[in-house]
Amino acid sequence: MIRLEFAEELMKMLQRAWTPLMAAAFAVLTGLAAQSAAAEELAKDLFGAKQLPAVAAPQSFGFYSKGCFAGGVAIPMDGPHWEVMRPSRNRRWGHPVMIGLIEKLSRDAAADGWPGLLVGDISQPRGGPMLTGHASHQIGLDADIWLTPMPDNRLSTNQREKMSATLLVDEKTHLVKEALWTPQHARLLKRAASYPEVERILVNPGIKKKLCDTVKGDRAWLRKIRPFWGHDYHFHIRIGCQPGSPGCKRQEATVRGDGCDQSLAWWFTDEPWRPAKNPDKPKARELMTMASLPRECRAVLDAPAPSSAEAATYYGDGRSIAAAAPEPAVAAAPEPAITSGAGALPASANAFAATPEIGIPLPRARPGN
Ligand SMILES: [Zn+2]
Repeated sequence: MIRLEFAEELMKMLQRAWTPLMAAAFAVLTGLAAQSAAAEELAKDLFGAKQLPAVAAPQSFGFYSKGCFAGGVAIPMDGPHWEVMRPSRNRRWGHPVMIGLIEKLSRDAAADGWPGLLVGDISQPRGGPMLTGHASHQIGLDADIWLTPMPDNRLSTNQREKMSATLLVDEKTHLVKEALWTPQHARLLKRAASYPEVERILVNPGIKKKLCDTVKGDRAWLRKIRPFWGHDYHFHIRIGCQPGSPGCKRQEATVRGDGCDQSLAWWFTDEPWRPAKNPDKPKARELMTMASLPRECRAVLDAPAPSSAEAATYYGDGRSIAAAAPEPAVAAAPEPAITSGAGALPASANAFAATPEIGIPLPRARPGN
């Protein structure tokens, strides 16, 4: 009897509890579903939709081809010695050291006799995979610079969108077009390779070969010049992981030597140019979900934005950069903070640091050789 009463009581209790229990279970289930849907969402769509950077201390997460970054700053559309190309892509964002380095290269190159830089893609405001193009450029440490010198007249927005680049390499022979190649191209590449922050410069194999065949004297910098597909109208500067980015994955060091060896000869065989076996196979960046990226990229995506792109634009003259805050981590630094850009950078990336002379391409004897 007692047992029966107990059973009835239990049934009533369960009935009373049923509705809230079900509601709770339903909420948990739908929450999980929403979460997994978000995890399934393509990272390129989420990062590609961001118009402004994550306000936090500058920090790169993950690898060049699988990551994101916080505290991004934009290079101004124009400088004394540069112009940003394809502005509608909104890819003029990078780690402050990357942006400072481009600005410095533009001035050094101008002093070397290169009229100025046409700046191609750097990164999206918060990095991450892109809707189109590049596999890398995801952590604010890659930048493309055109091999076309900046014209005398200032380009209109329309010209920056439409102007076609000059291909410096013959598609069939993979050799540099002799009529277009100049010693100033070599000088520009040597200047870019001269900075300690720069770990690699990607160029078309034809350009690497041209340098291998013509650079006299100091050839140590050729080690940083790496042959790669494409890169026939622009070169690609990659700097190393920067201090304050423990989650940034370093790339392998380049092999010893100038690279003017069998590894270069391989590019002039048929093998690298064979059509892909499965050309319709989607590329890695097209499939990446948030789950494929470092965990911190979710926080980067959710972090607050500065008030405008202008507020996060880098100026080498010490003007404020809203996005580059001194706090240590993205999750711990949700508040926008103001800091001076130039002061926070290593001397070699500082716009005001002295620039050593480099002699290109004057022939001179190799020491001890
Ligand atoms: Zn590139």
